[in-house]
Amino acid sequence: MTDTNEQYKINHFPKQSQAEPGLQSRMSPTPDDGAADYVGHERLKYKKALITGGDSGIGRAVAIAYAHEGADIVLNYLPEEESDAQEVKGIVESLGQHIKLVPGDLKSEIFSQALVDEAVAFLGDISILVLVAGKQQAVVDIAELSTTQLIDTYTTNVFSAIWLIKAALPHLQPGSSIITTNSIQADQPAPFLVDYAGTKAALKNMTISLAKQFANRGIRVNSVAPGPIWTPLQIVGGQLPENIPTFGQSTPLKRAGQPAELAGAYVFLASDETSYITGESIKVTGGL
Ligand code: NAD
Ligand code: MG
Repeated sequence: MTDTNEQYKINHFPKQSQAEPGLQSRMSPTPDDGAADYVGHERLKYKKALITGGDSGIGRAVAIAYAHEGADIVLNYLPEEESDAQEVKGIVESLGQHIKLVPGDLKSEIFSQALVDEAVAFLGDISILVLVAGKQQAVVDIAELSTTQLIDTYTTNVFSAIWLIKAALPHLQPGSSIITTNSIQADQPAPFLVDYAGTKAALKNMTISLAKQFANRGIRVNSVAPGPIWTPLQIVGGQLPENIPTFGQSTPLKRAGQPAELAGAYVFLASDETSYITGESIKVTGGL
């Protein structure tokens, strides 16, 4: 038996900041991506996954877990994150799975289509589309919320999801699974995340529409709603700097989550075990 509060509890995070999008390798402590502990059971054998935001944080833990479960992977991230992505590539290949890295900016509809084309060329088809990429910047006063940030947050978090799902749809066979990433912010918005929280509510809602729309194609659409998780997103301006040392401690479990603790939900929703689950959102929030 493992007491996960002991395994994952960090009482104090050092104050730190990086420019967006940030590197996980430069964080202290480094987020736990599950590489050391995850045990696979061939639950995704022969599946082909396109994962966005897969270089770091939650997406990285998902990629590593998927490789342990037998999936091949195409990984998207921003060019500035190449070194984090190369680490993921090394881990996935050491597990005997195929992986292709495709850096690029999802704010471009043209790139979103090209990413799907590259994924299909490499994998043959796509059976799991996992949308994890996201942008979060804390702004205390709406007077300071720039139009550039507003557009970038909505484009990254909402528009890119629609563009990628549209592009991937012709390649998704019956039995495929789409997984979006919303947030506790969809239901419990913080006052300083007006734009971000709104995008996550939109994503959660869209997940339900699309689950209904794709039901007769045999394609399931579900979402994961993380709570406070120790990832680069938080220290590049997603969180107010003064909240970093005690990050996550207001949850019932009184600690932040680690990316490794999210992977199971994404494996579950991608696997055939969840053949009767669609339009659902799974909270992984430490009890929030
Ligand atoms: P992260 O910084 O590790 O991951 C976010 C990733 O998004 C980056 O690695 C980057 O590759 C990608 N990204 C951002 N803008 C992009 C763009 N324009 N084009 C392509 N890729 C882009 O942080 P994370 O916390 O693991 O975030 C993953 C997801 O989880 C996000 O959608 C985030 O909103 C969501 N989430 C995180 C938390 C948390 O506490 N960390 C809580 C709720 C939801
Ligand atoms: Mg990253």
